[in-house]
This record gives sequence, C-alpha cells and structure tokens, in this order.
Amino acid sequence: MQKGTINIQTENIFPIIKKFLYSDTEIFVRELVSNAVDATQKLKTLSSAGEFKGDVGELQVEVILDKAAKTITIRDNGIGMTADEVNKYINEIAFSGATEFVEKYKDKDANSIIGHFGLGFYSAFMAADKVNIRTLSHKEGSQAVQWESDGTPEYTIEEIEKETRGTDIVLFVSDDASEYLEEARLSTVLNKYCKFLPINIVFGEKSEFSDDPSGEKDEEGNVKQIETKVPNILNNTQPAWIKQPADLKDEDYKSFYNELYPFTSEPLFHIHLNVDYPFNLTGILYFPKLNNNVEVQKNKIQLYSNQVFITDSVESIVPDFLTLLHGVIDSPDIPLNVSRSYLQSDRNVKKISSYITKKVADKLAQMFKNDRADFEKKWDDIKVFIQYGILSDDKFEEKAEKFNLLKDTEGKYFTADEYKELVSATQTDKNDKLVYLYTHNAEEHHSIIESAKAKGYSVLVMDSPLDSHVITKLEQKLNVSFARVDADTIDKLITKEEELPSKLSKEEEEKLQPIFEATVDKDKFTVQFESLSETEKPVLITQSEFIRRMKEQQALGGGMQMMGNFPEMFNLVVNSNHPLISKILKEADATKKEGLAKQAIDLALLSNGMLKGASLTSFINRSLNLID
Ligand code: ADP
Repeated sequence: MQKGTINIQTENIFPIIKKFLYSDTEIFVRELVSNAVDATQKLKTLSSAGEFKGDVGELQVEVILDKAAKTITIRDNGIGMTADEVNKYINEIAFSGATEFVEKYKDKDANSIIGHFGLGFYSAFMAADKVNIRTLSHKEGSQAVQWESDGTPEYTIEEIEKETRGTDIVLFVSDDASEYLEEARLSTVLNKYCKFLPINIVFGEKSEFSDDPSGEKDEEGNVKQIETKVPNILNNTQPAWIKQPADLKDEDYKSFYNELYPFTSEPLFHIHLNVDYPFNLTGILYFPKLNNNVEVQKNKIQLYSNQVFITDSVESIVPDFLTLLHGVIDSPDIPLNVSRSYLQSDRNVKKISSYITKKVADKLAQMFKNDRADFEKKWDDIKVFIQYGILSDDKFEEKAEKFNLLKDTEGKYFTADEYKELVSATQTDKNDKLVYLYTHNAEEHHSIIESAKAKGYSVLVMDSPLDSHVITKLEQKLNVSFARVDADTIDKLITKEEELPSKLSKEEEEKLQPIFEATVDKDKFTVQFESLSETEKPVLITQSEFIRRMKEQQALGGGMQMMGNFPEMFNLVVNSNHPLISKILKEADATKKEGLAKQAIDLALLSNGMLKGASLTSFINRSLNLID
C-alpha cells in the first residue's frame, strides 16, 4: 500500500469547495455522475479513434444506494484509471484530466465530453467523510487499484481485485448528509441533474410482474405471476434539442415540452436554437400560454451544459423579458459555478443573451410575415411578452416595430404604420396631432365606443397590464397622443371644423347649472355645458386623460407622491342640444325637474360603469316609478 499527501494547494482548496464553490450539497451528485459519463464518452472516443481495441459494450452509469452500509456508489464502465492516473488526476488536482483530454483529441469527437466543472471530484466530500475510488483502466493488462481518503490531504492507494473495466466511486455518507441515503431524495436529485445525460443512468431496480412462462396456475386458476427486476433508467439520452430541426415534427416538440413540464397546457410555438460560432449553444425555447400573472411564469428555462442540468435560474443569462419563455438552453460556453454578478458581465454571456433576443425577434417577425392570420390568432397570448420586450430591451423594440400590433374594438389588427394610415385623415386634435382613441374595457365603455364609431372613428383595445407603459412609449415614438374614449367628449378629443350652435342661451344654462350640481358630489364633479349633437347622450361623464394617468401612476406607487393624493375628478358634461335638457329646463314641478336631472346623470354614470351599490338601487327604483 502506498500512502501520500495530496499536494499543499489542496489544503486550502477543501474548505473552499465546501463553503464557496458549492453552496448546494446536492451538486456532488451532478459532479460525480457527469465524471462517470465523461469516462464512458472518453472510451467511445478512444474506440472510434482506434486507440481502444476491446469491446466497448453497452456504456452506462449505475447509482447504487446501500442504506445498511450507508454508502452511495457511482459505477461506470468507462475508461477507468491506472494507479499513475489516479495519482495524476486525483492527487494532483491542479491537472485537469478533461482539459488534457480535449487538447489531445481536439479534432475528434471531444465535444461530447462534459465541460469540466472545476474541482468536480472533490465535491464528493460535501456528502461523505470517506471516499473510495475503485478503478480498473481500459488499458490492456492493467492492475485495478483503490484510492481512499477521508477528506484530509492524506490518502492511500492499494492494489485490489476488480474484474470489470471502469470506476466505482464509493461515498461513505456522512451523518449531516444522511438525507441522500433516502431513496426518494436521491432519486429526486438524480432526476434533476441527469434527466437528459447522453448515456443511460440506472438507479435502483423496479419490479415488473408477468405471466409465468411455464403457464402454471394458482388456486383460482389464473396463470401465476413472476417477479422480475428491471433496471430503472432515469434519463432520456436523446433529448429533442440535440437533434436537427429537420428531424423533428411539431408533435416531437410538443411531447418534449411535456417531458420538461408535465401537466401544463400546450405551448403556443417554439424556437429551436443552434449556433456553433462564436459560441456553442443549442436549445429549444417555447412560448407558453401566458396568464396575466407574469411573475408565476418565470424561471422555467433550464440551463444545461452538454446535457448536464446546471440551473433553472437563468435571469443573468437571458434578458429579463425572455425569462417568461420556457424550455432548455444548452451551452458549454457559459461559465459555471460563478457568481451571478460575474455572469452578467461575462462577454460570452452577453453575446448569448443578445443572440437569443435576436432569434426570438426573428422568429416572431417570420411568423408574422409567413402567416399573419395565425399570428393574429396568437396575439392575445403573446402580447404581454412582446410588450415586456419592447419596454425593456431597445434592440427587441427596434425589431418589434414590424410585428407589434394594435387591436381595435372590432378585433382587427394593425401595425403602427397601418394604423397611422387608417386614422391620419380623420383623427387629429386642435394642434393637428394624431389622436388614438382607446378603451381599457370595451364592455364597460360599450356605449361611448358605439358613439365614437358612429362618428367614423376607430377605438383601440388597450387592456393588458403593460398597456399604460406601452402607451407612453408609443406616444413618444410615433408622436401621437392616446386618449381614452371617456377622457373628454369625442368632439373635444378630436376637433372638427365647425362647432354646433347651442340651443340654450347663457341664462338658460345658468338656470340649469345648480339643478345638476345639487344632484352630484360637487368635490368630485364639475358641471359644464357643451353643444353636442342631438343624437348624443343628454349627459356624459368624462375624466381628463392627464388626471387619470396621474392617479394610475399614484396607485402603482410611481413617483408622484409629492403632489399629494390626487383627488378623483370628473366632468359632468350636459349636452345643451339634447331634447331632455330642454324638457328639464321647462319642467315647472321642482321635484319632477330634479328627478329628471338625476335620471339623466345616472344614465351617464351607468354607461361609464360607474353606477354601483346604493346609487344603482335608487336608480332602478326611480326608473320603475317613471314607468308607472
Ligand atoms: P474535472 O472533471 O473537471 O477534470 P474532477 O475533479 O471532476 O475534475 O476530476 C478530475 C479527473 O479525475 C478527471 O478529469 C478524470 O481524469 C478523473 N476522473 C474522475 N472521475 C473519473 C471516472 N469516473 N473515471 C475515470 N476518470 C475519472
């Protein structure tokens, strides 16, 4: 037996591994299993390079849990190590075997070797107080050896009997890591990191019952069942993202989505990513059906490095708005085990992030171009995502000009250019600026929208949670003003050449003013007269666009606090040309006069969706009396 001390650097490295590199103890599973997978991939490469002449056989990694002995063994039938190699690769950890291997086989199939994760092997000591490596090299005539260490720099190496090629890493699980001796816990961790590894990962065995081939029957006359143990393969070695898009059908993408996120509704569409220059990246991103609850949908993208799961928090790798997407990104070029702030400033990561943004924008542009009708059908589902992108990413915003749509109350869709074209002849304000009318709730504004449409105007639907921000953005960009349909009377919002003459004189209006004022809360409503068309409603309620936006911002907690609480202010516009107003003026009976005014006001409140509770009840009762 040979004893030794791992070189001095290591003394400092152990605590670092334990504390800083891996804050998650479960990472040891990923590191050891991927080392094992690596060892099998290396053997494959050697074999195809003609340097290994033996029988490769079926390559696999086994994870064996022995609760009684309190051990976890990770077993592979890969290249194995000679005593010299154990010395070199395990004891002199400054050497990275993988790097050397990649150097040597650069031009061959070395890409499939899992990128090295730093001090991978030593992560074993996060869960074990003793580790054995039992290994037999693939090299002809090799002697099997066992390396043993308890996590201090002291180790022993001795010759052992081992018939089969490859390496067993035996962890003597420490008390503080005993959770990994629970089958369910270990299986969860294995599933998380190994789901798409490129060779079979076998964990435990499961029972399967089948008919006894001898046909023997039990007492009830049924064919006897025999129990057979079958290896439980954890992973799909051929996940969709490593395949060529040409080899995949729509169903394949959908079923892969299902594999990633069982029990979720079908995605809207997908984007297959594939680059090899200036960085390596593959993956599939899916557009999920977004509910309005954007936050819940985040953190669904999984990051892999050569099919090894790394993390599902990709905030620093993809722009924020893209975290709404689902799917997989696989890149060996993303530095691992480094802090988030470092990741964000990494040049490769920046390139990756802008590549993904571009791909997503290109895909949307292409979908819009190829099948606009279908794109419009998906619009309501993808709108939030596109708006989020427009608001948060300048590059995306620029590209989105081509496919960002405005939807009107009739369900027609327009690009910004098309819409400008549509309304430029008809919808300008007194300063000749274009006015885009919109509603946040087409149901609530139904009657106002109808009168705007009757005048030949178009009304947009802006009902998403991000629309108020999008409106501000578009106003600057397109040099137009957005006005909600109830921001003023339509005739004021959109200026026409001639103004209608009023049927009422100044004195008559002054007589009516107090009657209307008496029926409303004077702090909330300002009564004013306007000469509108006879067919317009007798009374209208409006709220200035400016005041409403201020209030909305205040509600969102946006910077307007210093202005104090903005009061809720409305205009009560009395249409001096409406016959009902003349009738109220002429009515001699004071109670009747007041009743009619009340009725006219309530109808206005009702058509703005503002008549509620007790006021609604008394309106209903008053209406019933009027019918009598
Ligand atoms: P890395 O994998 O980043 O090189 P590790 O500390 O994980 O670093 O492993 C060090 C080296 O030990 C590996 O590069 C490899 O040469 C060797 N090694 C580790 N595990 C195995 C294994 N299961 N079979 C063969 N060699 C192994």
